[in-house]
Formats: sequence, C-alpha cells, structure tokens
Amino acid sequence: GQSLRKQIFDIHEDAANWFLKVFKGNSDFGKAARKYWHEERMFKEGSEDELRIGMSPVDWSEFKAEIEKKYSYEAIVESGLFFAPRNKTSVMGLMPRFRGRLMISLCDVQGRVVAFTARKTSLTPTDIDYEEGKYVNSPETPIFKKQNMLFNFHRARKSAIELGYFIIVEGQIDALRMYVSGFQNTVAGQGTALGENQFNLIKRHVKKSVLMLDGDNAGQKAARRVLPIMLSCNVEPYVCVIPEGEDPDTLILKNGADGVKNLLENKSTAVSFMVDGFKRAFPNPSVGDKRQILEDIYSFVSCASSHVAKYEFLREASSRLGANFDAVVKDYLARYSDE
Ligand code: ATP
Ligand code: MN
Ligand code: MN
Ligand code: MN
Repeated sequence: GQSLRKQIFDIHEDAANWFLKVFKGNSDFGKAARKYWHEERMFKEGSEDELRIGMSPVDWSEFKAEIEKKYSYEAIVESGLFFAPRNKTSVMGLMPRFRGRLMISLCDVQGRVVAFTARKTSLTPTDIDYEEGKYVNSPETPIFKKQNMLFNFHRARKSAIELGYFIIVEGQIDALRMYVSGFQNTVAGQGTALGENQFNLIKRHVKKSVLMLDGDNAGQKAARRVLPIMLSCNVEPYVCVIPEGEDPDTLILKNGADGVKNLLENKSTAVSFMVDGFKRAFPNPSVGDKRQILEDIYSFVSCASSHVAKYEFLREASSRLGANFDAVVKDYLARYSDE
C-alpha cells in the first residue's frame, strides 16, 4: 500500500473535506457551525472554503466508514484524529478527538492539511474533562511537529515577501481575521509557543517581522520571551502593542482595519517596547529598577549577531532610559564579554 506518511496526508485532506461538508450541511451541527462562524465570529459567507474551516459532528460513523475502505488501520490511528486505543480495535471502535467543534485546518508550507485546531461551540459535548478546553489540538504525528507549525504561512508568504515582513499574532482566529482584513502577511504560532524553527523559516523569506500579541499579560510576557529568539535567528524584531483586553480579531471587529493600520504605522522597536513596558510598571524607577531593565536589555542585545546592531540597541536603551551610554556599554561588556 501507500507509505504511512502519504496515507496520513490523504486522511487529513479527506477529513478537512468532510468537516466542510458537515459545516455546509443540514444537520444541527452544520446550522450551529454557520451561526457561529458567520454570526458570532463575523466571517463572511464563503470564507470557510478558502480558509478551510469546517465542523466536526459527534457521530463520526460516516467518515470512519469512508476511511476504513481507503487506508490502513495503522495510518488511521497514527493520523491523530482519534484517541490512540489501548488495544487494537476496529476503525469503527475508535474514539474521535474532536466532537462538536469548529475545525480549523493547519497546513504545511505547501498548503497540505497536516493537523487541526478545534474550537469549542455550543454543541461541544462535555462528557470528558478534555472536552472542556476552549481549543483542542491534534497531537504530534509523523506529518505534524508543533515547533515547525506556522499557521497561515502558505497563504501569507507571497504578501510577506512583497512587503518585507510577517505580522505574527497569537491565535489562529486572529491570523484569519487579519488575513481577510487586508493584512495578508499574517501568521500565528500555536498560542504563544513560537521558537527557533518558526523564525528560521521566516528568516528565509524576510529580514524583519512585527509581533502583535494579545493585549493581556500573557501576550506581553510572550513578546519579551520571543524577542531574543527572533534576534538570534536574524529576524529584526518589532512590536505592536494591542490595547488591554483586546486581540487583533476583536480590535478589527471593533475599530476596523484602520485600527490595526495605525498600530502598524506606530510599531515599536524591541528596545522601546521593553523600555515603555518598564516605564509603565515603574513610573518612578529606583537605581535598582533601572539595573533590572538594563539586565533584560543586555540579555536581548547579546542575541544580536553583529557588533553594529549591538551598539545601536545599547545606544537606544541608554537614551530612552536617560542612562550614560559609555557606562551602559561598559556594564554590557562586563556581562557579555564576547566583543
Ligand atoms: P478565541 O478568539 O476563539 O476565544 P483566541 O485565539 O483569542 O481564541 P486565546 O485565549 O487568546 O484565544 O489564546 C491564544 C491561542 O492559544 C489560541 O488561539 C490557541 O491556539 C491557544 N489556546 C488557547 N486556549 C487553549 C486551550 N484551552 N487549549 C489549547 N490551546 C489553547
Ligand atoms: Mn490571549
Ligand atoms: Mn480571540
Ligand atoms: Mn486572544
């Protein structure tokens, strides 16, 4: 038969098509999905086709019967669409991982569906604790490695190359909202899990990127964690700060695309993002407070690959903090004696 990987790709393609069929169908699941996607989330009629959105029903017997004929039992289990059974059972006996959820296809760089993230809806059952979560994701499989996933990359690549940068958001829905609102160069990690692999992929296409994470503590904390990784992958980092309590999706629904356009025009450098956050947290900083922010900045600066860049970051930090430049350089060199 076909190789295991080839079968797993094909199972995902079939699953995405089946989820779309359910989304468009006359069942309660179809109706609830369309209500959710179009009326609650305000995505246009037809967007489900281009964006490969769908709906998972609770009863998967139709889909199981279809794939049982086409693929090996091993490939079906390894696809991750079902919970791995303890003992070998029949395909019909497998327990579906996603039930009553809005299905968002995750594609690889070539646009092949390799996994799903599934959002809770009004029809998500709550029989098992696991189903309480707002999102349920595919597990890692032979064709899906989380650390390599950059959501929406295959759709965003062309525009990002033209514009010279990617916009990086937290949530898949944020990336889709940005994409359909004129910001086609938008990608998302899996939540805030962004690492080297994703930035190495980005680096092969553009020199810089803009982080636009949620306007909550988690998002801002994630930005501080991610900036040094971007720098060490030679992706020049910029940050847009979303207003408190919003994310790119809600911001666009509230204020339209112009809200995001303004944010992009006023994007911050990494150093000014760090210093501004510090100034908000410490309106009257002590010498000790200033030391702490400088330590954070030194650690960021040490990730730059060129001395010119390092000195530019240090100059920006000293001027924004009102600290003596020579002293800042001296302190930096005392900690990171790589010069
Ligand atoms: P929505 O707008 O549908 O509520 P969101 O994208 O705004 O979703 P956040 O709570 O901001 O959701 O989380 C950001 C991202 O983190 C999500 O898109 C998802 O990838 C991931 N995430 C959030 N909650 C969970 C969860 N319970 N389990 C797994 N991943 C999650
Ligand atoms: Mn969030
Ligand atoms: Mn959201
Ligand atoms: Mn969010």
